[in-house]
Amino acid sequence: MTNVIEIFSSIQGEGKYVGCRQTFIRTADCNLNCAYCDTNFSSAEFCNVETSAGSMEFTQIKNPLDAAQAADIIKRFSAEIPTHSVSFTGGEPLLHWQFISEVAAQIDNKIFLETNGTLPAALEKIIDAVDIISMDIKLPSAHFAEHREFLKIARAKDLYAKIVVTAETAPEEFDAAVDLLAPEDLLILQPVTPVKNVRAIDARKILELQARALQKVKNVRVIPQTHRMLKIL
Ligand code: SF4
Repeated sequence: MTNVIEIFSSIQGEGKYVGCRQTFIRTADCNLNCAYCDTNFSSAEFCNVETSAGSMEFTQIKNPLDAAQAADIIKRFSAEIPTHSVSFTGGEPLLHWQFISEVAAQIDNKIFLETNGTLPAALEKIIDAVDIISMDIKLPSAHFAEHREFLKIARAKDLYAKIVVTAETAPEEFDAAVDLLAPEDLLILQPVTPVKNVRAIDARKILELQARALQKVKNVRVIPQTHRMLKIL
């Protein structure tokens, strides 16, 4: 049983699979506390579930959910709209690795994991069930040792790393994060969407950071959060 914030159908707004149709399962709770976090991941009494895939209208079901309840909703959405994959997001979904594993066993969809990449032991437990891993490296980070372990396991699957870059991103911290990666890894640089007190990054700095990363990693792409531009979920 797991506390889930919301379940809905939308487009993936970030990274390598931007624009793909997905069902999103947003689980509660996170093990980090990033300054630019724009996600409400607090546990709530009820989970918001879209009434039909993409309707943007919601009904509520009582938390916590068991895997069969989540799997039934995923199957219903997939019957309504061909769906690229099911994205487990958060918060930090790997806090709920057992739930993910149980849901994955009951559905046919590809499993897409959006994670902060700091819980390698949890990833190891469900790596066979996961198809695609979007791993964030949050800066500044005190979790490089965990990221290293995480990457070793995650490279068995379709993996890309993502770094959110802001006006405050320090070049030395950025270089240290890029050093975690292998030349063949895909790296997405995501210019921050300004929220709270976080300032936008200017174009010159984005290009400078991409140039720095390209010294180490061959495939470095700059992709902003497109769902924010479209004002879509
Ligand atoms: S890891 Fe993600 S969900 Fe957790 S605090 Fe950071 S930005 Fe928010």
